[in-house]
Amino acid sequence: MSSSTPRVRTRFAPSPTGFIHLGNIRSALYPWAYARHHGGDFILRIEDTDTLRSSEEAVQVILQAMDWLGLDYDEGPYYQMQRMPRYREVLEQLRQAGWVYPCYMSTAELDALRERQLAARQKPRYDGTWRPEPGKVLPPVPEGVQPVWRFKTPTTGVVAWHDFVKGRVEIRNDELDDLVVARADGTPTYNFCVVVDDMDMGITDVIRGDDHVNNTPRQLHIFQALGAKPPRYAHLPTVLNEQGEKLSKRNGAKSVLQYRDEGFLPDAVVNYLARLGWSHGDAELFSREQFIQWFDLDHLGSSPAQFDEAKLRWVNAHYIKHTPPQQLAEQVRPLLARQGIDAQTPDLAQVCALLCDRAQTLVELAEHTLLFYRPMQADAALLAQHLTAPGRAAVEDLQARLAALPQWTRDDIHAAFKAVLKHHGLKMPQLAMPVRLMVTGREHTPAVDAVLALIGRDATLQRLQAGLQ
Ligand code: GLU
Repeated sequence: MSSSTPRVRTRFAPSPTGFIHLGNIRSALYPWAYARHHGGDFILRIEDTDTLRSSEEAVQVILQAMDWLGLDYDEGPYYQMQRMPRYREVLEQLRQAGWVYPCYMSTAELDALRERQLAARQKPRYDGTWRPEPGKVLPPVPEGVQPVWRFKTPTTGVVAWHDFVKGRVEIRNDELDDLVVARADGTPTYNFCVVVDDMDMGITDVIRGDDHVNNTPRQLHIFQALGAKPPRYAHLPTVLNEQGEKLSKRNGAKSVLQYRDEGFLPDAVVNYLARLGWSHGDAELFSREQFIQWFDLDHLGSSPAQFDEAKLRWVNAHYIKHTPPQQLAEQVRPLLARQGIDAQTPDLAQVCALLCDRAQTLVELAEHTLLFYRPMQADAALLAQHLTAPGRAAVEDLQARLAALPQWTRDDIHAAFKAVLKHHGLKMPQLAMPVRLMVTGREHTPAVDAVLALIGRDATLQRLQAGLQ
């Protein structure tokens, strides 16, 4: 990196207002990946100035979600509420430079102005009554009224930026009115805090949802007034739900942590989210390292991405299949423990190895493993249906052969099945089905010889004996 290129610094700046869904966390994933790609810094900033809606619990959910997904940050979390003195200081700086002015317009007056503008089919906006101009006489200052502070937005020209997603965006300054940067009680407003933070934190690239695109021209003006270089911007298109509506709690979006609880793997979720608005050729499945290596802002999608739970489950199934069985066992064990099951014998890693290609989530995998750890109950009627007279004789024969096997391996068990089938002139299902039902209580399991090998000789023989009675 040449000395003229500043170190990349990105941030995730969530408002802790209760709920963080996959669309929200994608706004953390991309700046994280961009910082990692460039060997830069990723900063977490909690935008908690809306004290009515913010909560400590929501902060914890954000921290847990990032931790779960492995989105590590180099600085923060910073909390805006702890930076109030700094915002006041910068406000004072703007005041002294003449960039902000007090406005005494009351709410009633603002409402009346709005009514008039709407009646005249105009866009509602502050009309600059209190904006000082050379030669202009301002109204008399009302007694006992604390003013708000407004930013003196340029009235001519344009404000423009190159957006990595939207290309060049240009807004006429006469479309913008004078933004309130501090309320009557002195608290700074949202757009102002964001600029002070992005400036102080040396953010080089802002990657955020396009619900903020209307804030950007206002923020750029404040940067300019402060004599600070603005960051570059990428405004990510919305994430839609499966019905094509904006993903939101109201529209049925789930919390990020719910995916953890449902048994999704963090790497799978990262992989899935990475593709939700960004692409690298046709690649659908890639490691975290590849994602970091490939991620750039030039291949962000410009139309809304649609969430597809079936695809997420497909990606998750792939990751489950490729996770070492020992690791799967470590993750499945607590799920079983929650159901009071201490999965000791057979070895859970071996069970996971056998079942991992049948589950789309860890919860499903845990459910499949139960056949090895729960006392099983064969449905008598079902068994009677599958256990024909020749079948019964064959099961008895199998019992004897299994008891006599020198070794209890899948291959040897398989050979015993084959010998019985041949001897009795039966097809595999005629023997495998009743055996499966007797030993596991289920009609559907992986290959019966593999299942018996794991269940063990003693348990197998006991269950066959019980099933024959
Ligand atoms: N706090 C804002 C939000 O949660 C994000 C602000 C930004 O990224 O600039 O939507």
